[in-house]
Amino acid sequence: MDKNNGIKQKPIVELKDILFAYPDQDAVLKDVSLSIYPGEVIILLGPNGSGKSTLFKILTGLLKPQTGTFLFKGEKLKYKSKMLNELRQSVGMVFQDPDNQLFASTVEQEISFGAVNLRLSQDEVRRRTEQAIKDTNLMDLATRAVQYLSFGQKKRVSVADLLVMESDLLLLDEPTAWLDPPNSNLVTKILDDLAKRGISLLIATHDVNWAYSFGDRMIMLRNGKIQFDGDIIEGFNNVELLRDAGMPRPIIQAVCDTLQDETMANDGPVPRNFETFERWLVKRKSTKNDQADRRQDDLFFQRKQGQSGELRKGYTTGSCAAAAALASIKLYNGEVLPEPPFLTIHNPEGKPITLEINSAEQLPDKTWRCCVIKDGGDDPDVTTGLAICSVVKPNNITGEVVFKGGEGVGTVTLPGLKIEPGEPAINPVPRSMITQAILPYMPEGGGLTVEVSIPGGENVAANTFNPRLGIIGGLSVLGTTGIVEPMSEQAYLDSLIEEINIAAAMPDHNGKITFVFGNTSERFAHIYLGNQAGRPVICSNFVGPMLRAAAAKDMKKVTLVGPLGKVIKVSAGIFNTHSHVADAREEILVANAAMLGVTGRDLERLAACRTTDAALPILDELGILDVFCERIARRCCSAMEDFENLGIEANCLLSDGRGHFLYSTIELDKEIKLDVTHEQY
Ligand code: ADP
Repeated sequence: MDKNNGIKQKPIVELKDILFAYPDQDAVLKDVSLSIYPGEVIILLGPNGSGKSTLFKILTGLLKPQTGTFLFKGEKLKYKSKMLNELRQSVGMVFQDPDNQLFASTVEQEISFGAVNLRLSQDEVRRRTEQAIKDTNLMDLATRAVQYLSFGQKKRVSVADLLVMESDLLLLDEPTAWLDPPNSNLVTKILDDLAKRGISLLIATHDVNWAYSFGDRMIMLRNGKIQFDGDIIEGFNNVELLRDAGMPRPIIQAVCDTLQDETMANDGPVPRNFETFERWLVKRKSTKNDQADRRQDDLFFQRKQGQSGELRKGYTTGSCAAAAALASIKLYNGEVLPEPPFLTIHNPEGKPITLEINSAEQLPDKTWRCCVIKDGGDDPDVTTGLAICSVVKPNNITGEVVFKGGEGVGTVTLPGLKIEPGEPAINPVPRSMITQAILPYMPEGGGLTVEVSIPGGENVAANTFNPRLGIIGGLSVLGTTGIVEPMSEQAYLDSLIEEINIAAAMPDHNGKITFVFGNTSERFAHIYLGNQAGRPVICSNFVGPMLRAAAAKDMKKVTLVGPLGKVIKVSAGIFNTHSHVADAREEILVANAAMLGVTGRDLERLAACRTTDAALPILDELGILDVFCERIARRCCSAMEDFENLGIEANCLLSDGRGHFLYSTIELDKEIKLDVTHEQY
């Protein structure tokens, strides 16, 4: 509720040094000074007999204090009927027991009575009565006899009685006492609406929980004296004040105080009702989970403690974008980031990942651009050191998270990838990590738009596979586990498999696919296979996994194009051709040469070759270069066809290490064949 006493308005009523005593008794109110400003919601607390009702009677001019001053709208109150009438129009009182207040026969008559008494025109009386009936939800009861109404209905009539007066200040005695929850909520709502309209409320109550949730200012009366007059939170925090008055603390305040500890940022509003309390609990839980997560997150501690020795893991661009998105929406919602600014997100397996937010900048539309500097760990890739940034803002699409690619994030242009053409190159796993991170902030009846950007990403993207994958204008946001495992080849293989997916989405591939080992063999494939090469896919050293992936896409007519040094390994059943996996080139070379009749010293010469290319002149000299190459190419095809019974139909186009033609199991175009000449070894 608004508190207008910050703005210097004139008080409605002002009491100065009031002393009041009933005849022949000690003073009931002593040295009472208080001012009530427009729009204030004041809770009047005090034990029975402390003088609350007496104060109400003074404020409505029913009792006249013996000493002190009563100013009404700045003027000293004269206890004459004219000014008293004005005072009672402006300051109304709602009794605790409505039977003390109501006397007319029907609800309508009862409510209109006050307005009639004000000598207003008939039209005005009707207007005010109808409005008051509506405001108190009494439309269905307007013609009922008051005496047959329930307590709650009578209570509402007693409030409506005062609404027609269009008072500036309402004095209410226990407005929710004896009401069932629906009626209590209804009366609370009516009072809330009144407060929002700027009507001041002075409410006497013993219900500290209700008072704490509803009031702005607290006045505590004890033994006829004001013990406290100020902010209600401050008042309820004053344990001594409450104890002296024999009052309990509001439950929510006491519970929050017990649960609050130094780990909880004091950044939000103090919870004062169950709704805000619930939100506070959720936030507290997430802070606690964050802390527990960080303890679990060995990586976080490894970084914090600067441990060395083992290879350090890093984070994927997806993790960085998710943490940046979480920071962005937190700041947009008025939260503050922890100090230092580490936030925890979760990978798809639920593993917590804690990252540092390196920058946060508010944009003109009040959203925040937050960035995390990508750290690839001990397996840095091209994105290491770049800022991965996210901006999150609400949209109108209920429950949807919409992804946009900002600067440096590429756009998918070819079918076959996990993301549709036209979409920003943010893969499904990062999308789900980002969504999971920001889901708690999903606005009711709307959604969230996340724009991911990687400043400088466009230049870096030129050195990645993206151009091959038809991803233009920037990098991809990748990551299947959120964590970059050092020396892991999985991410690399994943990006190669994407190429198969694109090739599979091409029309007219007829189940054919061309695998090349790298750029040299790709050029070679184009030259010698021409159109037959289709869209060659780089398989690097992963011949086996790529065969599996191709078979899964029903692309089983595989032509492997590559240099002898690689193909010779495949011919012996080595399906990961990286030399750290297997390097048996010498043995395979010698064994095959022996099978072709090479013996003794010649075999030793071949065995002494440091590369397969170095063996070529010797094979040529021995007159077996062609048969040797044919043998290797055919054995390579058999090995691929036997591989895991995938049903592969294999062909092989063999070159030397520099991309010169050696042999082909596939019929080459006539024209091309004319150009095919053996290098002179
Ligand atoms: P509260 O509303 O806080 O319970 P009251 O204003 O009703 O307190 O009462 C304050 C004191 O004045 C009490 O000691 C009460 O007995 C006394 N009192 C209240 N009304 C009268 C009255 N009409 N005549 C004499 N004493 C009264």
